[in-house]
Order: sequence, then C-alpha cells, then structure tokens
Amino acid sequence: MSEPRYSVTRRIGPVSAMHAILGLPEGHECRNMHGHNLYVEVTVGAGELTGPGFVVDFNDLAPLEEYLRSWSRLESLNSLFQGQDPTVERLAEHIAAWYGRHIAPGANGELVAVTVHENETCSATFRPAPQAVPR
Ligand SMILES: [Zn+2]
Repeated sequence: MSEPRYSVTRRIGPVSAMHAILGLPEGHECRNMHGHNLYVEVTVGAGELTGPGFVVDFNDLAPLEEYLRSWSRLESLNSLFQGQDPTVERLAEHIAAWYGRHIAPGANGELVAVTVHENETCSATFRPAPQAVPR
C-alpha cells in the first residue's frame, strides 16, 4: 500500500522518564538506571481530509499526551515491559500499540509512524503495518 497523501505530526514532550537497559554488558553506562527527557512524534496520515480539512484533529491526540506524561510518575519505564528492555525502539512500538487501542478507534486517519527521541541526536521510529483498509 502506498503512503497516504496527507500526513500530520504532533510532537509531545519533554517527557521525563527513567529506564535501565539490563541486556547491556556490565560496565555499559546505559545498564544503570538513568533518566531521559523524551520527545515523541506521532505521524498520522490519510488519503482524504475530513472536517474543515484535517487528517486528524490534534485534540483527538490529547489522551496520548496524558498517557505519555504519566510515564514521569513511573518508577521506571522498565515496568511497562515484562522481560524486555525499554529501548526507544520498543517504546515507539509500545506507543503505536497504545494508539491503536485508545486513539485510532475514535479518530480519523491512520497511524503512520511513531518516533521517540531519547536526546537531541538519537531517536527510533516504529511504523505499524498499514491497515488492510482502502483509504
Ligand atoms: Zn537510556
């Protein structure tokens, strides 16, 4: 399936959160618990615009921002995953799945990509498989 003709991106952050990447070897600095000010970009696409000319109303994404802000109250992001490390790659996939459950059913458009920036130079992007629905 081809890329949607229109896409919009909402940037959320900073989201202050802690994690430890336990799968790294002893001595690696990221193996210890440490914090990040994360920025998350969510891109939604659509083949046609709705309403006044929107891919999606940015207000429809507000619950995602609330969810991400709740990460600051977690002891660490490790609690979101069982037996897996909360790398930015997995965080991006986790956010896409959360979007699919909580936002997608009531919002126009289709999630195209989630990018999680862990600092100014490093980020990871997850792109869900396109839905098998014609747009
Ligand atoms: Zn880290």
